Amino acid sequence: MTGAAPRIRSIRLRPLGQDIGLERLDELAASLARVFRVSCHVETAPMDVDFAFDVLRGQHHSTAILENLFNSAPPEEGGRVLGVTEKDLFVPVLTFVFGEAQLAGPCALLSLKRLREEFYGLPPNPGLLAERAVKEAVHELGHTLGLRHCRNWECVMASTHSVERLDTKSSGFCGLCRRAAGLP
Ligand SMILES: [Zn+2]
Ligand SMILES: [Zn+2]
Repeated sequence: MTGAAPRIRSIRLRPLGQDIGLERLDELAASLARVFRVSCHVETAPMDVDFAFDVLRGQHHSTAILENLFNSAPPEEGGRVLGVTEKDLFVPVLTFVFGEAQLAGPCALLSLKRLREEFYGLPPNPGLLAERAVKEAVHELGHTLGLRHCRNWECVMASTHSVERLDTKSSGFCGLCRRAAGLP
């Protein structure tokens, strides 16, 4: 234990936008509760994210949503808020992001948009979507534990900019990340 890592005591999932299915969030919550061994609660009231829409890019600005998430509902001690959206997210220097997190902070978010097979012109695959969502959620929550990107390509903290890479890594932390984050 380094003592530096802020432990996760609870996770709240917050739907971002009106078009997100709550049953999908329930499924994700159950997986995250298992991974982090904490209670994971799904909020039913979606947060409006229209303010973050960039007309020129046709995408939502991830960092703006993250700030709003933090300001609208500051989590309790050790709590994390994970926003989940169907909107396509970007940060100014990148074409898109799967998600974003506050490093060693309480808030993170992820988008399901590019995790869906339909985005790539393929038939829907709910099982694969669920798997990808868990990996991306665990990755972003890992950042909230102070973890940066990992060089181990099987580790969930490996940096991924494509679904192909996402599919090759696991949903678990490698030993180094696990120790660095003080996870059991
Ligand atoms: Zn990352
Ligand atoms: Zn790692």
